[in-house]
Amino acid sequence: MSTIETYLTEQRGPGYPDKHAPVVRCDCGSKVECWDAWSNACPTCPREYNSDGSELAPRRFWGEETGERF
Ligand SMILES: [Zn+2]
Repeated sequence: MSTIETYLTEQRGPGYPDKHAPVVRCDCGSKVECWDAWSNACPTCPREYNSDGSELAPRRFWGEETGERF
């Protein structure tokens, strides 16, 4: 399982709410900063994470209820 290590905060200036992004420790050991609302790719393996820091299913399985396969 991947785990969220911490959260980053970006201050976007007066009048804008702060933006937060989880930093995920990927199963492969890399850290992934999840700034994008949809998908954030690990720099060293094919895994992707959403803005909550949850691992996305591999793209070829999107739209199917197949569970995890490798
Ligand atoms: Zn990874």
